[in-house]
Amino acid sequence: MKYTIDENGCYGKFGGAFIPEMLYPNVEELRLNYQTIIQSADFINEFQYLLRHYVGRPTPLFFAARLSEKYRAKIFLKREDLCHTGAHKINNTIGQILLARRLGKRKIIAETGAGQHGVATATVCALMGMDCIVYMGQLDMERQRPNVERMRILGAHVIAATSGNMTLKDATNEAMRHWINNPTDTHYIIGSVVGPHPYPDMVAQFQSVISEEIKKQLINEIGNPYPDYVVACVGGGSNAAGAYYHFLNDEPVQLIGVEAAGKGINTNESAATTALGKVGILHGSKSLLMQTEDGQVIEPYSISAGLDYPGIGPLHAHLFDAGRVRFISATDDEAMNAGIELSRLEGIIPAIESAHAVAALSQLALSEEDVVVLNLSGRGDKDLETYIKWGKY
Ligand SMILES: *Cc1c(COP(=O)(O)O)cnc(C)c1O
Repeated sequence: MKYTIDENGCYGKFGGAFIPEMLYPNVEELRLNYQTIIQSADFINEFQYLLRHYVGRPTPLFFAARLSEKYRAKIFLKREDLCHTGAHKINNTIGQILLARRLGKRKIIAETGAGQHGVATATVCALMGMDCIVYMGQLDMERQRPNVERMRILGAHVIAATSGNMTLKDATNEAMRHWINNPTDTHYIIGSVVGPHPYPDMVAQFQSVISEEIKKQLINEIGNPYPDYVVACVGGGSNAAGAYYHFLNDEPVQLIGVEAAGKGINTNESAATTALGKVGILHGSKSLLMQTEDGQVIEPYSISAGLDYPGIGPLHAHLFDAGRVRFISATDDEAMNAGIELSRLEGIIPAIESAHAVAALSQLALSEEDVVVLNLSGRGDKDLETYIKWGKY
């Protein structure tokens, strides 16, 4: 198992836990207990029940006939867009809240950029009757008003981070500070395969249900569990980690990660971390991130709020380093065109994050016999304003 963590929580030279000393007890409690809890029969039963009856799993694996015809390959869409709340993020928040309860926590905190993770967290807190505080940059609150109101309707307290640029990084700092001051009763739900060990491994395990289902579904569709390609967009990397997980040791399956190239990789307005990033430490783990010569994190840019992140999780940095995943990128324009294309060909309006994965199809040298599984991470309802502003449809 080359692609799992070692005893130090590292994937190759990436990962680990680089945290302030004050946070050590919180992270240590999680590290010592997470594996035992999530492997217990009691946890597995409750997690499976909620995935099935609350989230709506298994999500379908849909043969996209018209898309397949266009790209001359057999293309299947893994329909994470059909999950409750509209994306894969709920798989992780359900897992973490069940874990938090078993650790005796009564309160949940989270940080959110575009608001999608905040909504998924507020949702499970309502479901479990737990207090929920979501930190969000003040600027992001103005830009993502509907998600702020969704969280409030669900009963969460949304607190504006007013330091720095008033975006995700500042919200993360405030959430960390809150956690340091409330170590015994509070669990911090991180929304992607990022953060200090054990978060990346834990989140990857919760999302791994995606590839577990794909394998079973492919047996019915093509008679074996192995596609030629698995394609997923990468922000922090959680939907991709989930879609790759059970294929990581199946080397003939080609794994493709699609990053946001924004206005173009060399325009200084992008979020293509593997193309531009260098080794550094962000949010408590060592990974690849976009930074200046002197180590300042560069503000990322993408039309898609969920891909607008300056790093990738340590698992992905390792998979990139090892050559196991091929990373490519799609620009804003390419993603928007692909979003419209999928809408027209299959009647599915994708999240703009997921549209980046669709845009990658034209970059793969596909042949008629190739089986492609594209992880459709979310639906486009939340992005209607962006589609309207884009206007070319
Ligand atoms: C948040 C989000 C992403 C990006 O996050 P990952 O951790 O990289 O999966 C992708 N797609 C959708 C629909 C999202 O909401």
